[in-house]
This record gives sequence, structure tokens and C-alpha cells, in this order.
Amino acid sequence: MRRVGVMGGTFDPVHHGHLVAASEAAHRCNLDEVLFVPAGQPWQKSDRVVTAAEDRYLMTVIATTDDPRFSVSRVDIDRPGPTYTVDTLRDLTSYYAAAGIEASLFFITGADALAEIASWYESADLLALAHFIAVTRPGHVLVDPGFSAESVTFIEIPALDVSSTDCRARVAEGAPIRYLVPEGVREYIAKRNLYVRAES
Ligand code: NAP
Repeated sequence: MRRVGVMGGTFDPVHHGHLVAASEAAHRCNLDEVLFVPAGQPWQKSDRVVTAAEDRYLMTVIATTDDPRFSVSRVDIDRPGPTYTVDTLRDLTSYYAAAGIEASLFFITGADALAEIASWYESADLLALAHFIAVTRPGHVLVDPGFSAESVTFIEIPALDVSSTDCRARVAEGAPIRYLVPEGVREYIAKRNLYVRAES
């Protein structure tokens, strides 16, 4: 049985905290690989403009190239409409079944995001599709999403003190993001002139 981590996020932009979190989840939960899955249309983010999916996808590819355990899936980007995790997990289950690979899925995401799971589309079906790994920052109060202990693993990641929101704000203010994100991602952001305007 192949143990597959499914690292779901907006990744706007992907940063070193995400990479450390994926690596730590792989280590603690004995995962064979981690598939980063950038969200297509994060439907709960209507309060701000989300960077184009292709830019977020390419930054995630750049960030993950040198780790053989990591790859990036387009499954949420290529599916039209709002991104629902239940669709992500169903599509990946079908993908592995079609490839003849017996896979067990571990959905990794921020504990804050997971705390809202009761409001996610078809949330009742999610627990049957994957085990959940909730990663959090030091000092952050964990909100128990109400899962049984067998369905969720909580992991505290010191490097998650980096956040995408802070990276975007720093670029908008002209502050450096070198060392917060992989160098190739920093170069991509500069080349594409991303995040130059302050958040609305
Ligand atoms: P978010 O609200 O941007 O994230 C909440 C917090 O978790 C932020 O602090 C974020 O930090 C962190 N985070 C997000 N993804 C992470 C990851 N993979 N590893 C570590 N920290 C992470 O959450 P989001 O990006 O919109 O959504 C996360 C995942 O949940 C996505 O796959 C999304 O599709 C899914 N989701 C599904 C539904 C649904 O099915 N209805 C609803 C909401 C979310 P950063 O900002 O630094 O990343």
C-alpha cells in the first residue's frame, strides 16, 4: 500500500514553512511521497484577489523540484469550478486505481483551514477518503475539528511561522523575502511582478 501525502493549499506563494511541513509530515507518518495540490479556485477566499492558478502552480513546481519525494498535481487547477477537497480526493483515488497502484491518502493542510472542515462541501464523506494531517505554528491554539483521534494527526512545525500573507505583504512593502521562500520562487515573483500592490 503506497502512502501518499496530499498537500492541499492555495500556495500564494509557496514558502519554506510549507516545504518543512511536507517533509515533517512525510517523516512522522511514513509517507512514500507528497503530492502538492495547489487549489484552483479557493472558494472561501472571496475577500482578496488570488494570484492566477498557473503562477501558483509554477511556483510550487519550482519549489519542489529538488526533493525526490515531492511532486505537484494539476488536479485542482484543471478541474473547472470551485475547489472542493472531496473532489480532489476522489480524483486522486481514481487516478491511483487506474494506474493499478493501491494507495492510501493523507490530506495535509493548515490546522486553521482544517478547523473549518464542517463547512466544507460534502464534509461527511471526507473522512472515508483520507486520513487528515493538520499542521500548525508554535503558540497557535489548535482548534479541534471534531474528528476522532484515528482520523487526524496534529503536527507542530516551527518553520510555519512563515506565512503566505506575510510574504505577499513584504513584497508589497519592498521588504525582502529571500530565505523565506526558495530562491527560484523569489526570482519568479520578481520576474512576474507579483504582489507589488498592497492587499485590498
Ligand atoms: P488557508 O485559509 O489559506 O490556510 C489557513 C492556514 O493554513 C494559513 O495559516 C495557511 O498558511 C495554512 N496552510 C494552508 N495550507 C497549508 C499546507 N498545506 N501546509 C501548511 N500550512 C498550510 O487555506 P487554503 O489554502 O484556502 O486551503 C487549504 C486546503 O484546504 C486547500 O487544499 C483547499 O482546497 C482546502 N479547502 C477545501 C474546502 C472545501 O472542500 N470546501 C474549503 C476550504 C479549504 P499559508 O497562508 O502560509 O499557506
